[in-house]
Formats: sequence, C-alpha cells, structure tokens
Amino acid sequence: MTAETYPEIRDAVAKLCARFPGSYWRGLDRDMAYPQAFVDALTEAGWLSVLIPEAYGGSGLPLSAAAAVLEEMQRAGCNGGACHAQMYTMGTLLRHGSEAQKQTYLPQIAAGRLRLQAFGVTEPTSGTDTGALKTTARLEGDTYIINGQKIWTSRAEHSDLMLLLARTTPLREGMKKTDGLSVILVDMRQARGNGLTIRPIRTMMNHATTEVFFDNLRVPAANLIGEEGRGFRYILTGMNAERILIAAECVGDAKWFIDKATSYAKDRVVFGRAIGQNQGIQFPIARAYANMRAAELMVREALRLYDSGSNPGAEANMAKMLAADASFEAANACIQTHGGFGFAEEYDIERKFRETRLYQVAPISTNLILSYLAEHVLGLPRSY
Ligand SMILES: Cc1cc2nc3c(=O)[nH]c(=O)nc-3n(C[C@H](O)[C@H](O)[C@H](O)COP(=O)(O)OP(=O)(O)OC[C@H]3O[C@@H](n4cnc5c(N)ncnc54)[C@H](O)[C@@H]3O)c2cc1C
Repeated sequence: MTAETYPEIRDAVAKLCARFPGSYWRGLDRDMAYPQAFVDALTEAGWLSVLIPEAYGGSGLPLSAAAAVLEEMQRAGCNGGACHAQMYTMGTLLRHGSEAQKQTYLPQIAAGRLRLQAFGVTEPTSGTDTGALKTTARLEGDTYIINGQKIWTSRAEHSDLMLLLARTTPLREGMKKTDGLSVILVDMRQARGNGLTIRPIRTMMNHATTEVFFDNLRVPAANLIGEEGRGFRYILTGMNAERILIAAECVGDAKWFIDKATSYAKDRVVFGRAIGQNQGIQFPIARAYANMRAAELMVREALRLYDSGSNPGAEANMAKMLAADASFEAANACIQTHGGFGFAEEYDIERKFRETRLYQVAPISTNLILSYLAEHVLGLPRSY
C-alpha cells in the first residue's frame, strides 16, 4: 500500500491559495500581521479539520490528506505556519481526551468557532530537554494552579485554546524526567489577564510567536487530558504527526523554489543567452530537485506507516530532516539563480527563504534528529 496523494484536495487547496498571492503575504510581513483572512478561508472550506472524525464534524481523513493540504499551501507560496498546529495538536485531544472533552471541543473546532492553534511545550531554560521543563500545575481541590513560563508559543494570540505540557509531580531522585508531566487544555479566553500573560516575540519571519507567563493561573481539573503524569507520552505521538506534516510543508516549499528558479533561469538573458543554459545555474537546481524528490518519497513512506496505524519515529524524523534540508537547498539555489533580484521583496523569494529556514531548528533541530537516529536506529551510545 502507498499513501494516498489526494489530487482533488491539492487542486482545491491550490485554487483557494490563488486568492492569497505574494502581495497579500508581503503586506502582512511588513506589519508582522496575522493572515486572518487566509486562515478564515481555510477554516470555512474545512481544510483545517480534515483530521477530525466525521462524528465530530470533520472529514475524518488520514494524515496523508492533511499533508496534501499543507504541501499545496506552501507550494502556492503561502505560509501554513499560521495555522498548521491545529492539525497536530487536535490529535492529542482526539487520542487521549475523554468523550466529554471531545464532544465539547472537537465539533466547535471543526465548525471554526474555536481555535486550537497553541502548543505550549518549549521553555526558555530547558530548551530541547523537555523533561527538564519547570512550569508546574498543582492540584488544589478541583483546580490546577499553574505557574511558570513558556517560550515560542506560536499563535497564542490567535488561538482560543492552548495545549499545555506542565509538571504535575515534582521530579524526585530516581524518577524518569519525562514522567510526572501532564497535558492540560487551557482556555485562553478566560485565562488572559487572570494569571496568563502573552507577549509577542518579533522574529526574522512573520510567525506570530510569543512568550507566555503563568502566574497562579487557575484551570479546572476537568481540563486534564488523559491521565496525570503521562503527558510526555501523549505529546510524543503528536510530535511524529507534526514532523511529518512539517516535512510535507518543506516539500511544498522546495517545489515553489524550484519552479521559481527554473522559470527565471529560462527567461533571464545575460551575455546574450539564458542563464539557465549555464551548468553553474542548472546543476544546483537539478540537485535540489533530486533531493526534494528523495525527501518526498520519505514523507510518503512516513505517511504510509502512520496511516496504517504505526507510530513511525524514525521515518517521521528522517522525513522532517531530509525535507527541511531539501527546501533550504532549493531556497539557496533560487536566491542564487535570481542574483540581486533574489533579495528584492517583490519576488517573494527572500520571504520564503526566511520562512523555510525555521525548519532546520523547529519543531525539532537537525542535531536532535541525528542523535535520535544514531541512538534508536543504529544502536550507538546516547550522546547527551
Ligand atoms: C518561530 C518558532 C516557533 C516555534 N513554535 C513553537 C510552538 O508553537 N510551541 C513550542 O512548544 N515550541 C515552539 N518552538 C520551539 C522549538 O521547538 C525550539 O526552538 C526547538 O525545539 C529548539 O529548542 P531551543 O530553541 O530551546 O534550542 P536548544 O535546545 O537550546 O538548542 C540550541 C542548539 O543546540 C543544539 N543542541 C542542543 N542539545 C544538543 C545535543 N545534545 N546534541 C547536539 N546538539 C544539541 C540544537 O540542535 C540547537 O541547534 C518554536 C521555535 C521558533 C523559533
């Protein structure tokens, strides 16, 4: 079995994205503004709820359908970073939430009345070492009291709900660092100004990311997802989905850069001939194409395994790394092909270049993927 590629979904998403051309993204970029109209259009068309089961108002499609949606968005020059999180954060609620929680939230999310776009894991002091996070949730009667800080909580200002990972059992001698963490759904509409403060962080690309502070924030204990102390495991399965989806976005970016570079190389005439006639211009684009195709095949393999019910850690990580490398290589070739024009805002290349650079670092950096492969696939000693 191979993963479905969903040509009809790709076609429909490409048509929707054509309504949001480069000029739309450039305008937002200048003001660091959120692409609300784009996200509204995707929500209305049902593309952000493809993974929500039909019983809760979504289309109940597998991860490969979500990957098709996100790849096409990037391929059209748009930026899924504004809204991709709903697809994978929702999975934690779906797999581990109670029936009452699913009934409360999923139909509302599917209908676009509630946004679950924020995922609070990373902290300033612990970084990639998630088990060392310091945000605590202390149970007092039927309420959790939350204290601490998250960083890089993207889209927090444009989301109603946040999926938060916090420590509910203090770390004791001999305890596994990843035990004692729990996932809690925070309703930010009630929380803001009542123990929750959100501060935007300006970054090299327009990503609506923030830092979030919790100061005795009170959240009903009923908002705990699954069992207390098992949060890290719940988040991990979601992370594989996230890596595969980001990889699909990177493949879409790589295709966009390769298309742009190829057509410019055919048209631009210098020294009386098209620059694309020179091997120095052709070869980097051809190499980027080959690497993009290889990455695309790994994304499909990860999707095939995920859709057939396994949780493919190695393939999800490899897909993410290879696709992020392919998109950045294609971005570099695209800038080089365009010469000085690659740096001009109106070509959109410098914007996409900045946007795709993120995926060397987030949601998981290349070094940590290599460490995972070395340790868990090759059986080498853990290096950290
Ligand atoms: C724009 C943006 C949006 C983000 N959105 C979110 C979000 O919505 N929610 C969320 O929870 N997080 C989010 N993140 C956080 C992101 O997942 C982290 O930045 C990423 O996982 C890296 O963690 P860090 O920044 O703490 O780097 P660190 O962990 O401090 O690492 C710094 C560098 O050291 C390397 N390194 C660390 N340890 C090792 C080791 N043992 N071996 C080799 N190299 C090592 C890393 O590879 C990295 O290159 C976002 C980040 C950015 C920049």
